[in-house]
Amino acid sequence: NRTPLIAGNWKMNLDHLQAIAFVQKLAWNLADAKHDFGAVEAAVFPPFTDLRSVQTLVQADKLPIAYGAQDLSVHDSGAYTGEISGAFIAQLDAKYVIIGHSERRQYHGETDEIVAAKVQAAVKHGLVPVLCVGETAEDLEQYGPSAVPVGQLETAIAGLPADVDLVVAYEPVWAIGSGQAATPEQAGSVAKALRDVLVESLGAEGAAATRILYGGSVKAANIAAFMREPDVDGALVGGASLDIDEFSAIIRYQK
Ligand code: 13P
Repeated sequence: NRTPLIAGNWKMNLDHLQAIAFVQKLAWNLADAKHDFGAVEAAVFPPFTDLRSVQTLVQADKLPIAYGAQDLSVHDSGAYTGEISGAFIAQLDAKYVIIGHSERRQYHGETDEIVAAKVQAAVKHGLVPVLCVGETAEDLEQYGPSAVPVGQLETAIAGLPADVDLVVAYEPVWAIGSGQAATPEQAGSVAKALRDVLVESLGAEGAAATRILYGGSVKAANIAAFMREPDVDGALVGGASLDIDEFSAIIRYQK
């Protein structure tokens, strides 16, 4: 009952004109290939400045592609120069928002507490958080494979209702943009540990309904192996989501 989700995190790439061309071509590609969007959901996460354009295109052409933002403010509105409210993102009919990406944690000082507040803000505004967790190479050496992501998840989802609409993305920092993906077994085993946290926090039903994605050097050539892991329900794709053919091939993976 967990529809697989292939999500493209564009990071700081593609302006609003490039975004329109990209989403249109992606939709054509997938329509051409008779992609079943009910079987595998596709989503893109453009920069904030692209979201209005993507909304206009998706709604005008009734494209079956979901979209979301890459971050949001913990605040609803006010004197927070440079911040973007979840209310504004929701007004653009975005479905998702990425929260706690390792690049936000690393370059913008986002702590587990800030990430937890952002999850609350997203839920309050009706956005589905795509909550990122993952360990660095040093964490892996020091604490083993699942301790850090498990701790990050526990803090971030404390106090959420059992029926919360949530996506978790396991992204080992050492696998992001490195070309060195985790093995499917590594990803599957951390995903299982994260599922156990979800059972504790949300109960069996909430945990069974929550999608856990793997992210970190996902490509068309390795996606199928990740998707064969029972606790991996999709992928959060960075670099390969910027190439229409490659991203289409990832969305159209065959197990
Ligand atoms: P890459 O797919 O480029 O490794 O990036 C993964 C990522 O950070 C997605 O959020």
